[in-house]
Amino acid sequence: MSFRLLFFAAAAALAWSVQAAELPPLLIPVDGVAAEALRDTFAEGRVGHRHEAIDIAAARGTPVVAVADGVVVKLFRSVPGGITLYQFDSERRHAFYYAHLDRYADGIKEGRVLRRGDPIGYVGSTGNASTAAPHLHFAVFLLGPEKQWWKGEAIDPFAALGGVERATASSAPSPSDGPRSRP
Ligand SMILES: [Zn+2]
Repeated sequence: MSFRLLFFAAAAALAWSVQAAELPPLLIPVDGVAAEALRDTFAEGRVGHRHEAIDIAAARGTPVVAVADGVVVKLFRSVPGGITLYQFDSERRHAFYYAHLDRYADGIKEGRVLRRGDPIGYVGSTGNASTAAPHLHFAVFLLGPEKQWWKGEAIDPFAALGGVERATASSAPSPSDGPRSRP
């Protein structure tokens, strides 16, 4: 096989894997948060593992809404995640995981059908989140054939949420950073 052919084979394989991980556009799951405010924390390190989720900071009690149509498959309380909710999309292809909730929204229960934008709970700091920094921990998993809510391949939802890549901390701040820029 020529180098050229090898190159095209590799490119085709890459294109396939990117396509497999592709997500439809998702609604930002925290009320009032703009896409420009999102930070891609997917690849960051956490204690003993890669984060593989997006943290969205917001005041405690801010409504959390469904990113897409689907169904509530599991309400679960865990030591790291606190009060959590697992949603499948309508095609049962992806699972959406919402963690550190303060509480669930009224009427939320397993089996409940959700429309994109439906309230599911409120931002909090349950589980291992700092009480001083309430936030939503949001993750997306590509489900396997068994469709198990606790099992799947993590996908970075940053782009699907409309997230915009930011300049790194070492680059000069842009004028639009203005009073919001941090040290
Ligand atoms: Zn997190």
